[in-house]
Amino acid sequence: MPDPLRPLRINALELMRQPGAIRDIADGIEAAPLGVEHDRLTSHIQVDLNLEALTDGIKVTGTLQAQWSTVCRRCLADISGCAVAEVSEVYQRDMVDPEAFAIEQNQLNLAPMVREAILLELDLERSCREDCAGLCPACGVDRNEATCSCDITVRDNRWAALEGFVIDE
Ligand SMILES: [Zn+2]
Ligand SMILES: [Zn+2]
Repeated sequence: MPDPLRPLRINALELMRQPGAIRDIADGIEAAPLGVEHDRLTSHIQVDLNLEALTDGIKVTGTLQAQWSTVCRRCLADISGCAVAEVSEVYQRDMVDPEAFAIEQNQLNLAPMVREAILLELDLERSCREDCAGLCPACGVDRNEATCSCDITVRDNRWAALEGFVIDE
């Protein structure tokens, strides 16, 4: 069976032999072998990266994309979309830049960076739309669709979860 992460492992030595050389990666990578486990993820990870050989490393730019589905953080409606991570990283063999990733054993291994970047995007809280009014914290009515007469001016959402919690003396 071919290694599913093979497209993310590049012979760095070969690429760095010619500073200025460009190599593109356009591939769909399965989430499981990549170690991306996320309850919102509904697809593989689409990897579109451009590798440019520098004199002392390799510059990696491009995008990562994955489909997700979750619930709106305000009104709990089912929503789905595409997470897009913009990537711009430098890999170095002799680590000079503290921000850079390491080229180990002359190999450029993009898997850890791809995993990290796409997980960050999948973790973002989502709402169904920018101005979603959410649910009324008092009666639970969807305020996008109906209005209620609850007085919620003095309520603090952070305490809503504690409501109804009675201390038994
Ligand atoms: Zn919503
Ligand atoms: Zn209400």
